Amino acid sequence: MEKLKLEIVTPDGLVYSGEVDEVTATGSEGEFGVLPGHAPFLTTLKIGMLIARKGNEVIYFFINTGYAEVGPDKVVVLADSAERAEDIDVERAKAAMKRAEERLKKREEIDFARAESALERATTRIQIAERRIVR
Ligand code: ATP
Repeated sequence: MEKLKLEIVTPDGLVYSGEVDEVTATGSEGEFGVLPGHAPFLTTLKIGMLIARKGNEVIYFFINTGYAEVGPDKVVVLADSAERAEDIDVERAKAAMKRAEERLKKREEIDFARAESALERATTRIQIAERRIVR
């Protein structure tokens, strides 16, 4: 059976490295799936979920913005940050969500884009930790 080598790398280090059967990720243009033998391509990733299937085992990850490089036998993800669903600290994400919401409420806030992406990271982390992503 052909396998895919999946690597998820962030500035903090290697989040995951292993052989999997299938990868589903959130590209800027939408969700995409990769099976062994896929044609090579490069895509940007937006804040979202990555799912790696390994036989019957399914591993869920939070992926912050980044890139995915797909080849016939590998998927390399370079992300600003990433964690396995079970490593997500929900209380921390809730605190980040609250901070971002407070900032967005303030009229004088200039950096809306920054607050909005912090809010999106936090809400997506909470959804992934609780696996409530509607797909
Ligand atoms: P915060 O404001 O709580 O730091 P953030 O979205 O700004 O959240 P990131 O810049 O995405 O944080 O990540 C910084 C580091 O902290 C990364 O290593 C990331 O994996 C980790 N991290 C951030 N939030 C969480 C969380 N809720 N649970 C586990 N790890 C987290």
